[in-house]
Amino acid sequence: MTPNALLAEELRRMEASQTYKYETPLRSPQGGRVNVGGKEVVMLASNNYLGMSNHPAIRAAAIDGIKRFGYGVASARFLCGTQTIHQQLEKKLSSFVGAEDTILFSSSFAANVGFFSAITNEKMGRETYKDVIYSDRLNHASIIDGQRLSRAEVTDKKIYEHNDVAHLERQLEEDKGKDYRVRMIATDGVFSMEGDMAPLPQLVELAGKHKAMLFVDDCHGVGVMGKTGRGTAEHFGLVGQVDVTIGTLGKAIGGSAGGFISGTKEMVSYLRQKARTYVFSNSLPPSIVMASIAALDLLKKDRSIVRRLHQNTATFRREIQALGFRIIEGIHPVVPVMLGEADVAQKMSAELLKAGVYIKGLWFPVVPHGHARLRAQISAAHSSSDLDRALSAFEKVGKKLGVI
Ligand SMILES: *Cc1c(COP(=O)(O)O)cnc(C)c1O
Repeated sequence: MTPNALLAEELRRMEASQTYKYETPLRSPQGGRVNVGGKEVVMLASNNYLGMSNHPAIRAAAIDGIKRFGYGVASARFLCGTQTIHQQLEKKLSSFVGAEDTILFSSSFAANVGFFSAITNEKMGRETYKDVIYSDRLNHASIIDGQRLSRAEVTDKKIYEHNDVAHLERQLEEDKGKDYRVRMIATDGVFSMEGDMAPLPQLVELAGKHKAMLFVDDCHGVGVMGKTGRGTAEHFGLVGQVDVTIGTLGKAIGGSAGGFISGTKEMVSYLRQKARTYVFSNSLPPSIVMASIAALDLLKKDRSIVRRLHQNTATFRREIQALGFRIIEGIHPVVPVMLGEADVAQKMSAELLKAGVYIKGLWFPVVPHGHARLRAQISAAHSSSDLDRALSAFEKVGKKLGVI
């Protein structure tokens, strides 16, 4: 079989098992409503939580970035890819998440891939050593891939069941007497399939007790959780108590691209030397950097944006349940509408698009059999009429398919 024939066969297999991912082209910018095939529909599937992807102030800042600092720097940071604005953004992000220092990456995926092998893997002057990572079973793909690059000979990798603090504690207790160099607990701040949060208070306590480093990938938390959008740590009143925070500039904050790691001065300085996706990869372009600075300034100046996101989320969660749909309870703008079987979710998502709502479904193998769902994501960009329109489409289609 030729390589291409092999690929064609695998693609057919994906289609047959309904794991093939189709892409729907939008004819408009991202927003509360988008244009699909010439029709305006309510967008319930984007990470544009704060509506910044096409916000006038953010667009203007990006254009200003190009005017003042050019299209790009054609370089990695340590060669000639550091502009004053990169340092400004890092400083602002540090104070936003409550850390000493911050390092930018081209994406959060790149941040995770660069992080683990730089910390739990490198010799750091020692000949014999062993590190250990405890990782939540539902952690994001980029955390999993990042950990793969830490060599097994020097890194023990343990998985604890999703948000199962007792399981994690048993693993930590079992390893108490072992002479590990670095102990690390790694978790998402918010898990995007369920919209649930990591039990941060217990994790902070366990990390303190076992002298472990607490790593939180808060890509769905930064800009979203907490009164002022500083993330999952703010929600729990724990700003400054997480050792390492990962965030993205591609979701709530700006909504274009880019990622960052915030931590101690030593951690960040060390990553600038050793994180391979930082050292051997291009610097973020000025348009993104200036737009991200504007995004943080906007959040600070206008508290109503995060408030509107929280209000929209509460409204949607309340009203969709009032219609008779079953959701996973919570407070995050990710609202999983539970439908059971994959074919119901598929049909419902297709019918909803016809009725003016863009929403994506998740089914096996992304979630367990019988737990198929549509995942709604609420945004500050939604007007109350957008939400009304989405809810009445849900009512109409839900009744038609016998779901409610
Ligand atoms: C989205 C996401 C990422 C990837 O972010 P990018 O900046 O788009 O690469 C990483 N981790 C988590 C938890 C995410 O939700």
